[in-house]
Amino acid sequence: MISQKKLFQLIFLLILNGLFFFTSCKKSKTRNEQQTQITVTIEPLRYLTEQIGGPYLTVKTFVPKGLSPETYEPTPQQLVDLQKSKIYFAIGELGFEKIWLKRLKESAPDTKFIRVDSEIKLIDTESESHKHTSHVGHHHGIDPHIWTTPQNMILMAQKIYEALIDIRPDLKDTFSTRYDQLKKEMEQTHVKLSDEFKASGSQQAFLIYHPTLSYFAEAYGLKQIVIEEQGKSPAPSQLKKIIEECKKENVQIIFVQQEFDQRNAEIIARETDTKIVRINPLDYNWEKETWRIVRALTGKN
Ligand SMILES: [Zn+2]
Repeated sequence: MISQKKLFQLIFLLILNGLFFFTSCKKSKTRNEQQTQITVTIEPLRYLTEQIGGPYLTVKTFVPKGLSPETYEPTPQQLVDLQKSKIYFAIGELGFEKIWLKRLKESAPDTKFIRVDSEIKLIDTESESHKHTSHVGHHHGIDPHIWTTPQNMILMAQKIYEALIDIRPDLKDTFSTRYDQLKKEMEQTHVKLSDEFKASGSQQAFLIYHPTLSYFAEAYGLKQIVIEEQGKSPAPSQLKKIIEECKKENVQIIFVQQEFDQRNAEIIARETDTKIVRINPLDYNWEKETWRIVRALTGKN
């Protein structure tokens, strides 16, 4: 017959065993399911990274929604949080990045910093060959708004894909399949966009406060006229020149963004009888936003 002492010992062992089993179950998540944290500058980069890395990554966008990636200043807490990220994907030449990237690197020495613009033919607003964007009121230097065409998005996605398989070689096959799928979709989008503009006939000119659509305009033969003058509101004389150019180019649409001044666009819209269309090229849903812009330009809005 089993003694009471032995019985207690047995029960104790069973409980211990159960506890051990329970905790080991909780820890049995495979490496595949572990999420790797990544930080990116703007939402379109989060879109690309999540398309490729899907459920295996936690992707954080550094510049909050509604704030300008040209002038944003990070909070001290963001600098601390950044240390948890394995990679920071930067566009490369955004105003915020030009000022802050060096300091971000210093505060997160174990994080890899990768710019996604290295394979893209960058638009230099000072070069003579750059004719698609009007120089009226344009800021000078490299235009950073590379994410507005599907073909640039493919080149950016390639950089992201290469960096991701470098830190998670165990997921190479998964990332590779997802990257190929994304590339295929972007190529189809490019064909659809080209067809759409070809079908709509004449070359469209449009007005925009900040030159966010330079690459888009260049890729599809549009003319972008910019209101902003070196990152600031235009002087009255400049505004007059822009109004004249709008009339000459038969501009029908003025694009405004929540991150930038809208007052000058309203003045010009009144003077030239053009329509103001609010767009958000910094939106996560890249495809949907691109089609909104296209519909506005082709008059299918
Ligand atoms: Zn910008």
